[in-house]
Amino acid sequence: MTLRFRAAVLGAPGERLRVETVEAEQPRTGEVLVKIGAAGLCHTDLEVIEGQLVYPMPIVLGHEAAGTIAAVGPGVDRGRVGERVVLSWNPHCGRCFHCERGQPILCDKYVSQGPAAVTFEGSTRLSLGGVPVRTMMHIAGFAEYAIVTDACAVAIPAAMPLDRACLLGCGVLTGVGAATRIAGLRYGDTAMVIGCGAVGLSAVQGARLAGASRIIAIDLNDAKLAMAREVGATHTVNARDADPVAEVQALTGGRGADCVLEAAGNETSFRLSVEACRTGGEIVWLGKVGVNQDVSFRWGSLMGEKRITRSSYGGARTATDFPALARSYLRGDLKLDRLITHRIGLDEINRGFDDLRAGRSIRSVIMFGDAL
Ligand SMILES: [Zn+2]
Ligand SMILES: [Zn+2]
Repeated sequence: MTLRFRAAVLGAPGERLRVETVEAEQPRTGEVLVKIGAAGLCHTDLEVIEGQLVYPMPIVLGHEAAGTIAAVGPGVDRGRVGERVVLSWNPHCGRCFHCERGQPILCDKYVSQGPAAVTFEGSTRLSLGGVPVRTMMHIAGFAEYAIVTDACAVAIPAAMPLDRACLLGCGVLTGVGAATRIAGLRYGDTAMVIGCGAVGLSAVQGARLAGASRIIAIDLNDAKLAMAREVGATHTVNARDADPVAEVQALTGGRGADCVLEAAGNETSFRLSVEACRTGGEIVWLGKVGVNQDVSFRWGSLMGEKRITRSSYGGARTATDFPALARSYLRGDLKLDRLITHRIGLDEINRGFDDLRAGRSIRSVIMFGDAL
C-alpha cells in the first residue's frame, strides 16, 4: 500500500518550501516508518535553501527529528512499533575503514552516499506527481512520516517529550558531545564558548556537565548571553562591548582558556578561538563558513602548542548518546526547554527559516500534533 503524507518540499535553491502531499513506499528490509512528532529547524537546512550546501532537488529537508515507530520493514523486530525515537543522521555500515577505527561520522558508505540525498539503503523513496524526491541526510524530517534505517531510529524513554527530544538529534548532541567527548575537558577547567545558538548553548551545557569551573560565553546578542547564563555560563562577554581575549586572560592570569569551543561559524570567531586559547590548550571548531572561503590566522596565535579539532557531530555514538541525553533532561541536568523559542506548524516552515536567518530564534520546532 502506498503511503501518502504531507511534507515540506524544496524545489530549487532560493525558493520557498511548499507543503505537498508526497507518496512513499512502505519500509523495506531493515527500515522503519516513523510518525514524526517534532522537527527542529537547523542552520544546515538553511544552507541548503540558500544554496551553500548543494543537494539534488526536489528534496525534503529536516534532519533533527523525533517521533514514534509506526511500522517496521522485514527483518526488524515488530516489538519496536510504538517506541519513541530520536533520529540519527549518521547511519554507518560498521565494517569499513573508518567504522573499524571508531569514526562512524566518516563511514565510507555514509560519506560517499550523502551528496545523493537518498536513503542509506541507496534509493529515493519519496515522490511527488511521479517525480522522485530526495531525502536530506537520510531522514527528510520535515514531513509527517520518515522512512529510516532501523539503527537510526534510537529509542528514548517514553516520558521524554518529542519536541525537546528532536533537539537531541543534531544541535544538542553536536554541542554537548564536542565539550564532553571531543574536547576532553577536565574538572576545574576554564572553557570559552563562542556563539550562543542551539549548538553553542549545548556546548556551554557540555562544559558544565564535564565539570568546567569557569565557562565564558561570547556572542553579539545580549538575549542569547542571558540564556547562556541560564544554562551554565559563569561569565558572558558581548564582543561588541569588550574584547573576549582580554576578558579570558584577565580571568586566567594572562594564560587564556584551557578549551575554546567555536560555534558561531564566521572568520572572526575562528580567529578568536585560537587567540583566546592558552598555549597547550585545545580548540574545537563546530561552526562552518562557505566551503570555498578562506580563514586566516595570526601565526603568533598558534605558537607553542595548541590542538585544533574540527568536529561535525560531537563524536556521536547515537545509540547510547540519545537515551543518555534524554535521561539527563528528565533528571533536570540538561536544559532544553528554553532552547525552543518558537513552536510552529508545518505550514509555517518558511516563517521559521526567516526567523533563523534573522537570528530571532534559537530553535523553531515544527509540531506535528502529538509532539508532547
Ligand atoms: Zn543540524
Ligand atoms: Zn562504515
